[in-house]
Amino acid sequence: MIDLRSDTITQPTDAMRRAMADAPVGDDVYHDDPTVNRLEERVAELLGKEAAVYLPSGTMSNQVALRFHTEPGDTILTARDAHIAIHEIAAPAALSGVTVHELPGADGTFTSAQVRAAVPQPSPSLPYWLFPPVTVVAAENTHNAAGGTIWPLEQLVDVANTGHALGLATHLDGARLWNAAAGTGISEADYARVFDTTSVCFSKGLGAPVGSALVGNRDVIDATRRFKQMYGGGMRQAGIVAAGALYALDHHRARLVEDHDRARRFAEALAELPGIEVDLARVQTNMVYFAVDDGEAFAARCRHEGLDMIALSPTQIRAVFHLGVSDADTDRAIDIVRQVATARTGGV
Ligand SMILES: *Cc1c(COP(=O)(O)O)cnc(C)c1O
Repeated sequence: MIDLRSDTITQPTDAMRRAMADAPVGDDVYHDDPTVNRLEERVAELLGKEAAVYLPSGTMSNQVALRFHTEPGDTILTARDAHIAIHEIAAPAALSGVTVHELPGADGTFTSAQVRAAVPQPSPSLPYWLFPPVTVVAAENTHNAAGGTIWPLEQLVDVANTGHALGLATHLDGARLWNAAAGTGISEADYARVFDTTSVCFSKGLGAPVGSALVGNRDVIDATRRFKQMYGGGMRQAGIVAAGALYALDHHRARLVEDHDRARRFAEALAELPGIEVDLARVQTNMVYFAVDDGEAFAARCRHEGLDMIALSPTQIRAVFHLGVSDADTDRAIDIVRQVATARTGGV
């Protein structure tokens, strides 16, 4: 089976497993695990920040950041269909007591004008306490639901600077920031520079089995450790899994461009097929979203032929490229989709 459901399904490689088996470990709750500490230093350095905290998941990383930046009753701003807004099971409301206001924009972005318009400017004749405090602006790069799309750096910086000027904290959900950097050649540090906190995942395209990190200034990261513990994220000999993340940072970042090339080749082939719609402009990294008129049935037929993808809606199918997918797998995946697409339209 060629599995394009997600880049989270990657298996640790033999070399990664050896690095994990050999890792020196301690008790991370005492911040005493040498491999976790090395990982935190390395991620902070890569992102040009003072400190990082290793966390079990990207969801916890985002939620720890939001808990730190907000008070109950606050509102946070995200792009439409941000992971924080739609895939974290209402955690902002349940864990931090905050409301998420989604800003619609092109390809998972929004503009500084939208940020300004979303922050209430109390009129002098009304007391300020009549207005809900908007306290965080959070961007997602790459944006998952928009198709793995990359924020233009200038727009991202403008949004964050505007947030700061309005007194908001800024958070970057960089679960796939590695893909944005691989896709543009702009460093992760350049993307993270204007943000107070940035979350990155090791368990997506990098292919590590577990974990994320939240990075920022040392005082901020030290303060978030309390929420890591509160949310049940205190791990003991976490160096075993952190070693997989360290290995991935050293060996799997440069190869992400291969996933992007395969995604593009797959998307271009699909764009030629009858009954399939692909917005090629949105295929910027390792994801391909395409539309058919019978999503579930189409995905089921592909699965029957040996290609697994996710039907996200009645018409949308998602294919994600990752280190478990070779050029030959990509050719085969194209053949399977072609066969299913032409069979159902009776074409050739
Ligand atoms: C996967 C993902 C997360 C959450 O990561 P988990 O480790 O699955 O909790 C956060 N943001 C984005 C954009 C993601 O794609």
